[in-house]
Amino acid sequence: MTFDIVTIFPAMIEHPLAAGILGRAIDRGTLDMKVRDLRDFTTDRHRVVDDVPYGGGPGMVLKADPIFRALDAIEAERGAPLRVVMTSPQGRRLTQDVARDLSGAAHLVLLCGRYEGFDDRVRERVTDELSIGDYVLSGGELPALVILDAVARFVPGVVGDEQSVAEDSFSRGLLDFPHFTRPAAIDAGARSASLSGERILRVPDVLLSGNHAEIRRWRKREALSRTLALRPELLDGASLDEEEQELLRELKGARHGRD
Ligand code: SAH
Repeated sequence: MTFDIVTIFPAMIEHPLAAGILGRAIDRGTLDMKVRDLRDFTTDRHRVVDDVPYGGGPGMVLKADPIFRALDAIEAERGAPLRVVMTSPQGRRLTQDVARDLSGAAHLVLLCGRYEGFDDRVRERVTDELSIGDYVLSGGELPALVILDAVARFVPGVVGDEQSVAEDSFSRGLLDFPHFTRPAAIDAGARSASLSGERILRVPDVLLSGNHAEIRRWRKREALSRTLALRPELLDGASLDEEEQELLRELKGARHGRD
């Protein structure tokens, strides 16, 4: 999959992408990622990308013409991008479903805003306006990285084990089950003893049993009970198999019994 990211701070994108799963996917060529410095698409000596707002008021506005020239250059080099994403707190909220949908595009362009945002005419060349949450950040670089990461995880070959992506939280409308690794018992220290009442914390026995059918059932049950406790509204849209539906009925019954 091909990504182009347009920003006035290329280093903010390049450095985080050097490490981890995404860094490896870029090195291997599974992801073809280019960061474009918006200032390279200005035509004046001072490489100005912003200007005062028409109508007055505080703040500066990102000019539309350098963005249009950047998009023209990307198109000339790579062909027309299938999706042009504007990062914006006013956009559609990024979710796992939106990320999966975007991963179906062969080529994605991400536009990072700054200051008060883009000259509104930029929308004419945009296919998607995406927000990463109801808060305002000072630039679109962190949102672009968040979108890129969430989308890239769906690209085959990026995450080593595709089963793990399928089991991640939200992928089926459920939260993920809890994970444990060695050692099987650890001393949490004196301070945490007051929280759970236990100082020696053990991994649930079933995970050490080697009984794969039991382990699978326990994980399903845990994923359901966490979702029920923490994000019950997700269950309305979840696609559950028969075993999960039965487990959910049991869990709801047990909760009811306690009420
Ligand atoms: N005045 C604008 C906010 C501009 S913030 C408004 O109130 O709508 C500057 C830039 O940061 C935006 O252009 C966008 O690229 C980015 N940004 C800030 N918050 C964001 C969010 N929650 N999601 C996605 N992008 C965001």
